[in-house]
Amino acid sequence: MTKRLLILAAISVLVTSCGGHGEPGGPSPAALEAYCGSDYAEVERRIDALLRELTLQEKARLMHGAALAPSETGYLASRLEARGIPGLHMVDGPRGVTPATGLQATAFPVGMARGATWDPGLERRVGRAMGLETRAAGADVLLAPTISVLRHPRWGRAQETYGEDPVHIGAMAVPFVEGVQENVLATAKHFVANSIEDTRFEVDVTVDERTLREVYLPAFRRLVQDAHVASVMSAYNSVNGSFCSENDHLLREVLDGEWQFSGYVVSDWFAGTHDTVAAARAGLDIEMPSANIYGGPLVAAVQAGELSSDDLDRAVRRILRAQFCFGLDTNAATRDPSAVATTAHTELAREVARRSMVLLKNDGVLPIDRGATTNVVVLGNLADEANIGDTGSSNVEPPYVVTALQGLVAGANGMVTITHIASARLSAAEQTMVADADVAVVVTGLTAADEGEGLIAAGDRTGLGLPAAQEALIAQVEATGTPTVVVLEGGSAITMGSWLGNVGALLMAWYPGLEGGNALADIVYGDFAPSGRLPLSFPVAEADLPGFDNVSTSVTYGPLHGYRYLQHEATAPLFPFGFGLTYTDFTLANLRLSSMAATPDDTLTVQVDVENTGSVDALETVQLYVGAVTSAIALAPRKLQAFSQVAVAAGTTETVSLELPIAQLAYYDVATMTWVVEPTDYRVEVGSSSEDLPLSATLTVAP
Ligand code: BGC
Repeated sequence: MTKRLLILAAISVLVTSCGGHGEPGGPSPAALEAYCGSDYAEVERRIDALLRELTLQEKARLMHGAALAPSETGYLASRLEARGIPGLHMVDGPRGVTPATGLQATAFPVGMARGATWDPGLERRVGRAMGLETRAAGADVLLAPTISVLRHPRWGRAQETYGEDPVHIGAMAVPFVEGVQENVLATAKHFVANSIEDTRFEVDVTVDERTLREVYLPAFRRLVQDAHVASVMSAYNSVNGSFCSENDHLLREVLDGEWQFSGYVVSDWFAGTHDTVAAARAGLDIEMPSANIYGGPLVAAVQAGELSSDDLDRAVRRILRAQFCFGLDTNAATRDPSAVATTAHTELAREVARRSMVLLKNDGVLPIDRGATTNVVVLGNLADEANIGDTGSSNVEPPYVVTALQGLVAGANGMVTITHIASARLSAAEQTMVADADVAVVVTGLTAADEGEGLIAAGDRTGLGLPAAQEALIAQVEATGTPTVVVLEGGSAITMGSWLGNVGALLMAWYPGLEGGNALADIVYGDFAPSGRLPLSFPVAEADLPGFDNVSTSVTYGPLHGYRYLQHEATAPLFPFGFGLTYTDFTLANLRLSSMAATPDDTLTVQVDVENTGSVDALETVQLYVGAVTSAIALAPRKLQAFSQVAVAAGTTETVSLELPIAQLAYYDVATMTWVVEPTDYRVEVGSSSEDLPLSATLTVAP
């Protein structure tokens, strides 16, 4: 451990034990100020006064939701009107405002699609828009983002999160939360290791401390420390034998103690709470959606001496702090349906959808040149379907959905004849129609019937492939000899059959939101060059991945999954993490590091030149991975450490600069409970995907 890390650790212990304002063991003044702004001390004093006045029953009332069902302003919690405490109005969720509000809100592309944009600035705009729509519903808390690390693509809620890599998830989630919190509070969920649906209420995840720290916790830490997220939702599952809503290590030691979290912890909704005393002691502040283990049992536990009034005061303080710091008492949300699904927001949804689509294969079939194409046939079970994702808590019912077919017709500008063939199996006459067309576009993939939230929707996927009937249709279309474009929709990785070999172009469109069809047309006709990159690995076969067990009530998560696992096993993916084609070619050259030697305190600047060698303007996403050359510690061959997107006009070159803080290379040393950078040689690799890293340099890190 370096001197600096030692000092940081010592400061954190000191701060934890000295406490902040008015709350023994509470967050430091610096953490409070970061959460609350410069008048944090005034807020704490106001809370001190209220804590002296509130009765035990009133305090207990603040700590649970008001009703099982939401009203049109969301699930209500923690209101005491007579005391001037406005309460929290919470609405789902990660791709827009829930229909439970009675509103037809903007359905944005799902989180995984937005992860595929690799554009934190764009994600900030999405957060801002969702925050505005939440406020327009009369609510003040958005129950998003979902930042679970995608351990396996069969997870039913894969679509809600940003992908498989903790650095990439954190980079996307921080600006989202900052954007949301310009208007309302955000909730980071589900804390933690929540990545199975079918057993979500009872599964215990055994995970060693190092894996927890290095894989499952980092995105949450970033939201707490860098985005100052207002609240955190505990997961349904348990971790290492203790339910997340009462897990002392996670809530008390890590979230509060080490990270200095100043906000409140809210339970997940149904069956998310278990033991009154354990939950209150560990730091579960609000039980949702109504009293089960809190309410009467909480009052009784205090009266019986099982809980102290300090246990309640700590929770109430955090609940009030959130409300006062975010000004819910002085600047309450007012309902304004005219601010929902505005043109600005639906245009943003289109931009995000188009930026999210990943071109996985292209033999030159795309883009379709409107001037040189006469007939296009559009087929597939999803061609004319509104297919925007799960119908569980992340559901959004927008005012309209532009289907792929509608978008392709509109985008043709009357220059191309679009014929829709709705059949699941082609008749001889239809085969002739396809054979006579210039291009065939097959739109297929997954739907809410295949993947979604457990119990209330589809739950986990049963496999990674496409339904056999869809594969058969693709094969039939290909057999006509007409150049074929396959557009896939879905929330995570899909494995492909032998049809892939004959397909002219393959585009992953995810669940693209209400403007999905128009965004598809933007890409298909070449009005915009694709720029999406996979935020997860697409394996050749499910067997290539670590197992997915959604049957047992106990599972073990190791340190490797996704590209880190595949590379460790030397198994080639079908399409790697970070991969995506466009309508031009890029050459990366001239890797420069600001120094070839460093210590853990340093931050290096890494530069590379990106040349667009084709004839189309496009965006390149430069990715920087680091792996130890020799190591006694490292497990993954390389990890993503930074990325940056750059617009490069055809025939020109741009220089990209990336920051590499050496402290980010640290591993979690379980013995000393500290982050330590192993002094050794590291390979710094830069390229266009986790498998395409043409530039590399060796960096020596000294203690
Ligand atoms: C989900 C949460 C959601 C909550 C409220 C739960 O079942 O897991 O993500 O925010 O319901 O709808």
